[in-house]
Amino acid sequence: MCGTIYSGLVPVIPPHGSEKSRKNINFWHGFFLKSDLYFLCSLKPTIPLFSQEGSMFKFVKTFISYMGRYFNPDYHIEAESVNTTKGIDWFNTIPFLLLHLGCFGIIWVGWSPFAVWFCVIFYLVRMFGISAFYHRYFSHHAFKGNRFFSFFFALLGTSAIQKGPLWWAAIHRHHHMYADTEKDLHSPVISGFWWSHIGWIMATENRRTRIEYIKDWLKFPELVILDKYSGFIPLIMGLLVYWTGDILYHHAPQLHTNGWQLLVWGFALSTIITSHATFTINSLDHMYGSRRYNLTNTSRNNWLMAIFTLGEGWHNNHHHYPLTARAGFYWWEYDIVYYILTMLSWLRIVTDLKQLPVEIREDNHVQNQNNSRGTGKGNVTPLI
Ligand SMILES: [Zn+2]
Ligand SMILES: [Zn+2]
Repeated sequence: MCGTIYSGLVPVIPPHGSEKSRKNINFWHGFFLKSDLYFLCSLKPTIPLFSQEGSMFKFVKTFISYMGRYFNPDYHIEAESVNTTKGIDWFNTIPFLLLHLGCFGIIWVGWSPFAVWFCVIFYLVRMFGISAFYHRYFSHHAFKGNRFFSFFFALLGTSAIQKGPLWWAAIHRHHHMYADTEKDLHSPVISGFWWSHIGWIMATENRRTRIEYIKDWLKFPELVILDKYSGFIPLIMGLLVYWTGDILYHHAPQLHTNGWQLLVWGFALSTIITSHATFTINSLDHMYGSRRYNLTNTSRNNWLMAIFTLGEGWHNNHHHYPLTARAGFYWWEYDIVYYILTMLSWLRIVTDLKQLPVEIREDNHVQNQNNSRGTGKGNVTPLI
């Protein structure tokens, strides 16, 4: 049995990995697969009702299998490693689509100042989690993080239905390496607006966590667990938000909120705003805005996107020099994430914020804004 489970690990181990990293990958993925639902399915049942041939057994096995597909992105890792299917994975997209529909619940649940504020604050906190930690920390090592707080913000980011931090960081590093080429997974100039905005995240071929790009994080078990079971977090978060509203309904009626109202405003709407604000960086921020740096990709600086994403909208800056903790390169380019990171560094919650060398800031400026794609040096600096 162990052999069967273990054989499923082989395809996910990058062939070029060092012996040490291969052992890390083997250990953690082996450990978690042994507690996996897949393991339960492979057990030989001894209870007559659940005989291997019985219809009840088949039903339960099928049910567990489908639930596994919802909540575990690596569940079918063995099949996916040889699966060349491309396009939208509609089955796994159902919860994401339902969350969009849930926003229309506003019509029935009404509103209250408390619910609206909850929505805004939960959006801002999770946007910070995604921008500061999913992006600048896990993807680029732009600062050093306290392990507890890094996990905390990664957990909040996971509740925004953008999958796990390692899945996210791997996809993003891939983007920097192949931005606006045929290999880019979400380029609007190659694949069109809708694919670059939302289609790619729903695609079958992008479900797998590309661990070959994030080997530096595999030694942290809490991140591997969070990444592997990231599908559970939005479910738990949704329940917590509902219960919070329900408790307030009974114990603080002056707030005029309840479980359903808080679920719609504080979870569904807040999460959808967070998701689409993030997605605009991949789509609109490679289409509209100004270009300061002469890069081979179409990244732009967009002041409006910088508002919604707390600073990430200065995307042309970021593609020019991804290593720094800041995306706004001049004082007038507001970068809320960087301001908060600076304050957190005073408290020693984060340290070693990587700065922007002046000579890099002044290098490779674009001469002609009309060229949508530059002919200059491209990405000249490393990603991490
Ligand atoms: Zn980009
Ligand atoms: Zn980046």
